[in-house]
Amino acid sequence: PIYLDGHSTTPLAPEAMEAMAPWWHAQVGNPHSPHLSGMLASQAVETARSELASLIGSDPQELVFTSGATEANNIAIRGIALAALEGGIGRRDIVVSAIEHKSVLSSASSLRSAGFRIIEAPVDVNGIIDISALERLVGIETLLVSVMAVNNEVGSIQPLADVIRIARAAGALVHVDAAQGAGKLPLDCAEFDLASLSSHKIYGPMGIGALFISSAASLRPLPVLFGGGQEAGVRPGTVPTPLVVGFGAAAKVSRTRLVADAAHSGRLSALFLEELRSRQVQFIENVSAPSRVPGSLSLRFPGNEAMSIIVKASDRISISEGSACTSGQITASHVLLEMGFTHQEATETIRLYFSRYNREADAMEAAAVLSAIVAR
Ligand code: PLP
Repeated sequence: PIYLDGHSTTPLAPEAMEAMAPWWHAQVGNPHSPHLSGMLASQAVETARSELASLIGSDPQELVFTSGATEANNIAIRGIALAALEGGIGRRDIVVSAIEHKSVLSSASSLRSAGFRIIEAPVDVNGIIDISALERLVGIETLLVSVMAVNNEVGSIQPLADVIRIARAAGALVHVDAAQGAGKLPLDCAEFDLASLSSHKIYGPMGIGALFISSAASLRPLPVLFGGGQEAGVRPGTVPTPLVVGFGAAAKVSRTRLVADAAHSGRLSALFLEELRSRQVQFIENVSAPSRVPGSLSLRFPGNEAMSIIVKASDRISISEGSACTSGQITASHVLLEMGFTHQEATETIRLYFSRYNREADAMEAAAVLSAIVAR
């Protein structure tokens, strides 16, 4: 099937695959070992760290490798809360947008039992955080403000400059889940205290991510796992050389192709919509174009359940639902409900992302497949 679910995961870039190849067998070495093999692995890890730093405008030493953005979000939120508790910092409010990824929402909720208050800032109909509401919710009790760069279900781009201004004015730390922003938008981490990244959203391998911790941050997260003290004591465990090398290579390609990738993805999604319209299919775009990253589409075909469309289309195209499917039960997406859509509208929503390796023919085929299903 044609893969159009790039918000879920992206195909591995050939450059990343090639860079990783020797590190699976020919070049063996634990990057923490003192012998030459270990030192060569360590050098490869540091080269990758620098590539990733270049993508997000950070210093390499401000990056800690993790197993993915889920773990980075857990360390950022739980680790900062722990640091505040241990450091005698009295602030107990954590403010998040209502449409954060579950790894942010659940990490934050887990802190309620430790005395933290979790405040969700509302979003508008395009999935953009309500800045005046945020202004009211952030104050002297706020320890951390966590807002994503780009939403993973609807592609909405968050006004991070405003979020930073509000958080700074209140003396709060800023965490950005940049899993869907990196490689799609120019990101400047210098403005954040913490940022989470995921390799498999930028055409790198699965199972690796990173947490950016600014050297200027007023508080450093405490570890949430304990072990050998790797990654500056923030994330113990052997750093997986092949995965890190692949992540670094993918970051390098993403940096050099940032503008070209966005133009390509945007062109394909526009072509897809044009083709769908020419086939006289009735559909509604949930998010207006300027609010979302190029290539990302959240659509519904009124009267058609998303899950039914996805299943019928699945041998030809891989697309995803805008609602979350938990152990076989369809629950409406919290993102769409928070944006003001009804339960029915949410369960009718499909999500597509045209990635670097999709072609025009994929967009045409997807429109043909979907219009045939909806017309049936
Ligand atoms: N945050 C966002 C916005 C995401 O889209 C994802 C992936 O689904 C994650 C976090 C989790 O990333 P990972 O799969 O690397 O744990």
